[in-house]
Amino acid sequence: MKKILHIENLDCPVCAEALQSDLSKVKGVNAVSVDYVTQTITLDTDNEETVQKVIKKTNKFEEVRVLEEGSTLKKDGKRKEWLTIFLSALLFIAGILTEQFSSGTVGKVCYLIVYGAAYLAVGYPVLISTFKNIIKGRIFDENFLMTVASIGAVALGEYGEGVLVMLLYQLGELLQSIAVGNSRCSVAELMELKSETATVLKDGEWKILSPEEVTIGDVLLIKGGEKVPVDGILLSESATLDTKYMTGESEPKRIKQGEELLSGYINAGGVYEMKAVRPYEDSAVCKVLDMVENATARKAAPEKFITKFARVYTPIVCGLALLLAVVAPLVSGLIVEGRLFFNEFPRWAKSALTFLVVSCPCALIISVPLTYFTGIGVCAKKGILVKGAMYLDVAAKIKTVAFDKTGTLTEGNFTVCGVHVTSVTKSELLAVVAAIEKNSSHPIARAFSTVDSSDYIVDNVTEISGQGLCATIGKNTVLIGNEKLLKGHGFTPPDCDSIYTVIHVAKDGEYLGWIEVGDRLKEEAHSAVQDLKSLGIQRFVMLTGDRYERAQKIANEVGVYEVKAQLLPDEKLLYTEELKKDGLVMYVGDGVNDAPVMSEADCSVSMGTLGSAAAVEASDFVLISDNLKGLGECVRTAKRTRTIVMQNILFSILMKTGFMFLGAAGVLPLWLAVFADVGVMLLAVLNSFRVRIKKKNHV
Ligand code: ADP
Ligand code: MG
Repeated sequence: MKKILHIENLDCPVCAEALQSDLSKVKGVNAVSVDYVTQTITLDTDNEETVQKVIKKTNKFEEVRVLEEGSTLKKDGKRKEWLTIFLSALLFIAGILTEQFSSGTVGKVCYLIVYGAAYLAVGYPVLISTFKNIIKGRIFDENFLMTVASIGAVALGEYGEGVLVMLLYQLGELLQSIAVGNSRCSVAELMELKSETATVLKDGEWKILSPEEVTIGDVLLIKGGEKVPVDGILLSESATLDTKYMTGESEPKRIKQGEELLSGYINAGGVYEMKAVRPYEDSAVCKVLDMVENATARKAAPEKFITKFARVYTPIVCGLALLLAVVAPLVSGLIVEGRLFFNEFPRWAKSALTFLVVSCPCALIISVPLTYFTGIGVCAKKGILVKGAMYLDVAAKIKTVAFDKTGTLTEGNFTVCGVHVTSVTKSELLAVVAAIEKNSSHPIARAFSTVDSSDYIVDNVTEISGQGLCATIGKNTVLIGNEKLLKGHGFTPPDCDSIYTVIHVAKDGEYLGWIEVGDRLKEEAHSAVQDLKSLGIQRFVMLTGDRYERAQKIANEVGVYEVKAQLLPDEKLLYTEELKKDGLVMYVGDGVNDAPVMSEADCSVSMGTLGSAAAVEASDFVLISDNLKGLGECVRTAKRTRTIVMQNILFSILMKTGFMFLGAAGVLPLWLAVFADVGVMLLAVLNSFRVRIKKKNHV
C-alpha cells in the first residue's frame, strides 16, 4: 500500500535525509522517501498501524508536523519571522550605538544585554535545534555551524559579529523558504485541476457530490467555467472546452456528442451533460496529481550525489576548521619563535570560524532538488507527466527516438477502407470480424464498432499481442490479424497491394478474405519530429507490428527514415536493445505490446488518453492529451533543467572554495562570510527558477 503524507516545517534536504533514515527503521516500512521540496513523505507499507507509527515519529522530529489529510500547504505570509528579524535588527543597531557611546562597566553590561536580546531573538531556534541534534547524535548540520560560529565570535569578544552571524543566517533562511514556497505554490496551482464538486443526476434530481462519489454511467452537468470532474463522454450535442490545465495551452477544443472529454478540462461556455466513463481514481486528473506527488521520490543522480556528498563533507570541513584553529597557530609559533605555543590564536580561531561558515553546503543541497522539481512542474503545466527527476536527466541526453506507429504517430481512429473476399459476402465477413473485435481494446477494433454483428455469438477470444485475435464462433475457430498470425497457423495469405493496414480473416482451414483499415497521421507528428531534430536528436526509428508498406508510407510522411515492420512485441524489445548500443534511447508508444519495450528503453513516453493502462504504467513520461508536441517540450525542459543543475553545482562549488580560501587566509570578516553564504544560496535558488522561463523562437 502506498501512502502520501503531507508535512510542514521540514527545513532542509539534510533534515529530510535524516528523517527518512529514521523512518526507514520503523518496523513494517517497506520503503519511504521524504521530500523537502514538496514536503511529503511517500510511504510503502502493508498496514495502517505502521502509518500511525510513522506519523508519531515524524511529529517528534524537530518542528515537523504531519498535516491532516485533505489539508494542503497554505501560503503563509511569514509575518512572525519578518517581525522577529526586524526586531533583532533594531536591537542589534541599538547594541552598536550603546557600545560606541557608553563607557565603563555599566555601559558594557548595557550593550551586552542589548546584544544578548538581539541574538536570542533570532538565534534561539537554532540553538535549540543544535542542542537537540547533538543529543540525538546528529551533529553536523547548518544549525551546528552557525551556533559554533556565533558562539566562537562571542568567545573572541566580537559580540556584534556574533549577533550579525545569526541575524544574516536567519534572514537567508527566511528568503530561502519564501523562494522554495513560491515554487511549491506553482505546482499547487496545478493541483487546482481537481474540481471540488460534481453535479450528478441521482434519482431524477441534480445532486452535488464530490468527484470521488461519481460512479461509471452517472450523468453529470457541467456549467460554464466549471472543470470536468471525471473522465466521460459528451451527451449534449457539442461543447467547447479549454484544455489549458491538461496541455498547457489555452486552446479551445470542440467536441461532439459521444466524444470523450477528460477531467481537468474547463467548460468554456454553455451548459452540457456528460456521462462518466471512469471513476475519479482512474480519471486523468487523479493520475496527474498522483504522478506529480510521486515524482520527487525518484531522485536524479546529481541529487543523490549531493546528499551523499553533504554527509561526508560537513564533518571533513569541521575537521579542517579545527586544524586551522589548533595546528595553524602552533605551526606559526614554531616558525616565528622556534617553540610550540599558540601564536596569534584569536586570529587563527577567527579564520577557522569564517571557514566553517562559508563551507555550509546549503546552496547545493537546496538548489539541485529544487531545479528538478521546477522542471517536473514545468512539464506538468504543459501536459507532460514526469514520473521522476531521474527520467528528466535521461531525457536530456537522448540520442535516438523510437516510435510505435499505431496510436502513437497515427490517431488510432481506424475506418474500413476496403473489403476483399473469397467465398463469403463482404457483409458477412465484416459482421464476423465485428463480432470478434467487440472483445478487443486495440484501436483497430473501433473501425468495426458500427457494424451489426448480432447474428454471431463469439466465445474464447484470445488476443495475440502484435498479431491479432483468435476466437470461436459456434464450432469454428476464426483468426483475424496480420500476415504473421495467419502464416503461424499454416495459411499463405495473398499479397495485398495496399497502402493501408491489412487484416486477414480465416475460418478453420479456410481463408475468407482481407480488410483494409486506414488511420490518419496525427496532425502534429511531422512538426514534432522536426522539433526533436532541432534539439539535436539524430536517429529516428519506427518499430511497428504492421506491414512494411504501410509503415514506410507513414514514416515518409513524418520524416522518419528507419523503419522496422512486422515486429512482434519481443522483436521490438530485441531491436531496442540493439538501438541502445548507439546511445540513450527514448521509446514512444501506446499499446499493451509496447509496455515491455518501455521498460527496456532508457526512457519512455506513453499516450495518456489513447494509451493502454499497461503502457501508461510502464512509461516514464505520459503525454496527457496524446499530443506529440509534448516530446520536444519534454526534451527541451529536461535539457534546460540539467544545464541549470550543472550551473548551480559548478557555481556553488567555485564560489564556496574561493570564499573558503579567503576565510582560511583571514581576509574575510565573519559577517561577510555569512553574507556570502546566504548570497550564493539565494543566487542558486533563483537560478533554478529559470527553468520556468519560456524561451521564444521555437516551434
Ligand atoms: P503497432 O506496433 O503499429 O502499434 P500493433 O503491434 O498493435 O501495431 O499491431 C500490429 C498488427 O497486428 C496490426 O497492424 C494488425 O495487423 C494486427 N492486429 C493487432 N491487434 C489486432 C486486432 N485486434 N484486430 C486485428 N488485427 C490486429
Ligand atoms: Mg501501438
